[in-house]
Amino acid sequence: MKIVRVVDLSHPITAETQVYPGDPVPHIEQHSTIERDGFNLMSISMGSQSGTHVDAPFHFDHDTKRIDELPLPLFVGPATVLDCGQLAPRQAITAELLGAQLNKVQTGDIVLFKTLWSQHYGTDEYFNNPYIDAALVRDLLDRGVLTFGLDAINIDETPDDEHPGVGFPVHHLIANAGGVICENLTNLEAIYFDRPVVSLLPMKFIGIDGAPVRAVAMEVES
Ligand SMILES: [Zn+2]
Repeated sequence: MKIVRVVDLSHPITAETQVYPGDPVPHIEQHSTIERDGFNLMSISMGSQSGTHVDAPFHFDHDTKRIDELPLPLFVGPATVLDCGQLAPRQAITAELLGAQLNKVQTGDIVLFKTLWSQHYGTDEYFNNPYIDAALVRDLLDRGVLTFGLDAINIDETPDDEHPGVGFPVHHLIANAGGVICENLTNLEAIYFDRPVVSLLPMKFIGIDGAPVRAVAMEVES
């Protein structure tokens, strides 16, 4: 096996990283300097789900698994990228919309929804994200998919003043199944090859709801 290409699917983490409304913004400052200490070292603070990250079931349910308790195979493996086409703000992504592409999904796949909403990253429009229809997620869970990712801030519709009661139905469905969600992916359009091997491995924080990831898609030749 040979890895012939690695595509970065992650947003940069800086003070400008666009976070979910109300979440902590990353803060990075110099802790040690070469001049004073002989080496450079930074102090970092950020939300557990700021930037490209994975959610554990504990995000929405006290009694379920935390990020360190999940089996690592959930975060790395072959993926199917589903092309959602041109989407309107707050459009539901349904089985009808995806059509025959869904036949490509294999049991145990990581499924990535290519919404291209990452083009709105850094603007208010990013919060009017399209979202995944609960019936479609139920069907994929039934087919043995436990890892879901997308290039938008939220797999569910994002509440705001005009849409206050939209809830988190897909987060709950995936949490109840012991699955994981990766949000704020980017650059999914650069995966032009079939069956990428995707890595969404979280940092090994203990006992928490989620963690930042350096998400990549690899083209592999056997
Ligand atoms: Zn989430």
